Amino acid sequence: MLRLLENNLENGEKPEELIVYAARGKAARDWDCYHAIVRTLKVLEEDETLVIQSGKPVAVFRTHVDAPMVIMANGNLVGRWATPEKFYDLENKGLTMWGGYTAGDWMYIGSQGIVQGTYETFACAAREEYGETLKGRFVLTGGLGGMGGAQPLAGILNGGVVLGVDVDPDRIKRRIETDYCQVFSTDLNDSLKMCLRAKEREEALSVGLVGNAATVFTEVLKRGIIPDIVTDQTSAHDPLYGYIPEGMTVQEAEVLQKEDPERLIDLARQSMAVQVRAMLGFLDRGSIVFEYGNNIRAQAKLAGVEDAFRIPIFTERFLRPMFCKGIGPFRWISISGEESDIYRIDSTILKEFSDNEIVTNWIKLAKDHVKFQGLPARIGWLSHGERTKLGLIVNNMIRKGEITGPIAFTRDHLDCGGVSQPYRETENMMDGSDAISDWPLLNALLNCAAMADLVAIHAGGGGYAGYYQSAGLIVVADGTTAADRRIERALTADTGLGIVRYADAGYPIAIETVRTKHIKAPMI
Ligand code: NAD
Repeated sequence: MLRLLENNLENGEKPEELIVYAARGKAARDWDCYHAIVRTLKVLEEDETLVIQSGKPVAVFRTHVDAPMVIMANGNLVGRWATPEKFYDLENKGLTMWGGYTAGDWMYIGSQGIVQGTYETFACAAREEYGETLKGRFVLTGGLGGMGGAQPLAGILNGGVVLGVDVDPDRIKRRIETDYCQVFSTDLNDSLKMCLRAKEREEALSVGLVGNAATVFTEVLKRGIIPDIVTDQTSAHDPLYGYIPEGMTVQEAEVLQKEDPERLIDLARQSMAVQVRAMLGFLDRGSIVFEYGNNIRAQAKLAGVEDAFRIPIFTERFLRPMFCKGIGPFRWISISGEESDIYRIDSTILKEFSDNEIVTNWIKLAKDHVKFQGLPARIGWLSHGERTKLGLIVNNMIRKGEITGPIAFTRDHLDCGGVSQPYRETENMMDGSDAISDWPLLNALLNCAAMADLVAIHAGGGGYAGYYQSAGLIVVADGTTAADRRIERALTADTGLGIVRYADAGYPIAIETVRTKHIKAPMI
């Protein structure tokens, strides 16, 4: 757990402020809390559980050897109080913290943790309209931060051309240094020329352009250049800390954050409105346009773009059928730092899951193109049952000395069982149950009962306050038979309940999966 916490920060965007990703997603409430967590983890007994409240270690209790080592609740507020204003008021008093999905619960592994999800999303978009790949297709997007930084690489792995616009040159440089983006540019004309030439020649290319997404999107539309795909991953969910208004530098926005936050929020929302209007313009002229889960439609609507929700959400449009089978962003991390462990697991996957095209295709690409960040790790979109199978195989490999171990298994909250977010994962559910947040809470309770090693309940904080409820888990394979038991129970329960959630909402694929995977669900 300690290595995962440290790794979280090592991969973070602003580790000195404990900020991991998504503008304000933090790993611990403050540095005193961080050091107290480290001290406590070092002496935690096997039969004890550490309790974390919004990034602060509040207690240790004797539980039992199979109980979670760490349980957490991060950023949760009672319904009526769950607003950005109340959240920041409480955060400023040092009482709470937003943990994003994977920052507060120590699961973040950098852009490598999101890159397959972005790859699969682009691949789904390509399949829907353009055949098998993005060859000869042009993607325009914004935001090359912690998660958004995966977009250029995901685009070129699909054979396409990506123009990613980010207002902060340092963020683009970081993506270039880590091989997530190829070309750094400060000139729109040059960037467009390069992209359109590569599109015509059907060559894969990624360009990171320094600029404001609102300004650049509007200008590209004005010039009559219609990209094949348009999306965005600026931190638009947070108009105070995450989105820089047009005409302003990052530094100027930081000054206004302190001096006149209300004005900054207003200016940021106005710029988001400009960007979303351009996105609607692209939609009307034939581009595939989708929101990539940063709440930009909701913010733009607050600024008067009444039809912002004509833009669909990526989860409903592309990923939901996968969630109905329990397929989602499963990840594993080598705690010892041994790269060869990950490569051996790659080979095992290619052998043991040879009939799974999604994962074998991905593992082959990842081996060649995705650099490790921090502790060696891999993402693999495995389904219900497959995750348990891999966990048990890996635990056995550790037991037999074939790999070093330990290996931590985890997943994004963006998964079938992990989250209720009515403007994202659960938008337009068949039965209208978008905002029911019982499901991620049940998921966390069940994962505790199923003996996961870390279980966390999160809610949206900052700009996301009031927008979602989610849950995460970590299970560690260390080669013991006790780990076999924990892996088998927790990884099976986790996706199993997720599938039941979609079956309960009436999705035929999920109902079928409940039957074929023999999940006991009395009402389905
Ligand atoms: P981040 O804060 O690390 O990066 C955001 C980037 O946007 C920064 O590089 C910033 O400079 C840039 N930016 C801000 N305003 C801009 C503007 N007006 N024009 C151009 N660039 C601008 O955040 P992140 O971790 O990359 O996440 C981005 C968003 O995506 C968040 O809202 C997050 O919740 C969402 N997200 C989506 C998924 C998904 O699966 N789709 C996953 C994680 C996060």
